Amino acid sequence: MLKVENLHVRVMGKNILKGVSLELSEGELHVVMGPNGSGKSTLALTIAGHPRYEVVEGRILFEEEDITKMKPEERAKKGIFLSFQHPVEVEGVKVLQFLQRMLKNLRGVDEVEAYEVIFNAVRELGLDSSILSRELNVGFSGGERKKLEMLQAYLARPKLLILDEPDSGVDVDSLKVIAKVIDRLHNEGTLILLITHYGRILEYLNPKMVHVLKEGKLVASGGLELVKLIEEKGFAAVGENGETVK
Ligand code: ADP
Ligand code: MG
Ligand code: MG
Repeated sequence: MLKVENLHVRVMGKNILKGVSLELSEGELHVVMGPNGSGKSTLALTIAGHPRYEVVEGRILFEEEDITKMKPEERAKKGIFLSFQHPVEVEGVKVLQFLQRMLKNLRGVDEVEAYEVIFNAVRELGLDSSILSRELNVGFSGGERKKLEMLQAYLARPKLLILDEPDSGVDVDSLKVIAKVIDRLHNEGTLILLITHYGRILEYLNPKMVHVLKEGKLVASGGLELVKLIEEKGFAAVGENGETVK
């Protein structure tokens, strides 16, 4: 469903990704781990089509279509949803209004029906509905932002959900909401690419594969044993060519 082929990406004149290849099938949950600055966010933003990330070599295929040059809005329409590390604040726009607009754009749901869908989702995820009448992200705590991001992802019902460190700096309460959304969408057949710095969130999930990114290259792919190794010995335990240090 998603195929990343020999991806080389440059940002502000600097080569960040240096030949990343990945193949993910429908309904799978894949995890990308790596030290700070290894290019995890670059990979996420490039797949979502952020204009600042220049693909200098390689390509991205989604449902067998080459999307490498496609605009981010077109990718979103095709069912690719990226949850950002740093969401924006928008004064004067209420959360409910924003979510209604999103449902209209992505799924063609009308305003009245959207209202139901949104309130049901809030209930299902165990969120506080007062969040809906607030201005978008204005004065939100880290946990509230993250919960809203997850509500958005849940409502969008994407084909591919990319989460960039959803677990960074959140409390256990938010972590559970994140895990719940991932789990539910995963069970409904959404392909999920979860980027994380820590292994903690994986206690709640059962990924198909874990990939390790270092200095712009995927150095290893495997199972949860990789996470355990990294937790015990750090990223240094996985070498340039995937060899592991026990
Ligand atoms: P990670 O998410 O793994 O921490 P990033 O993809 O954010 O890594 O960053 C990888 C490298 O690319 C870093 O050296 C970072 O400074 C650089 N980089 C990423 N985005 C930008 C940007 N918008 N402008 C300049 N440098 C960037
Ligand atoms: Mg980082
Ligand atoms: Mg990052």
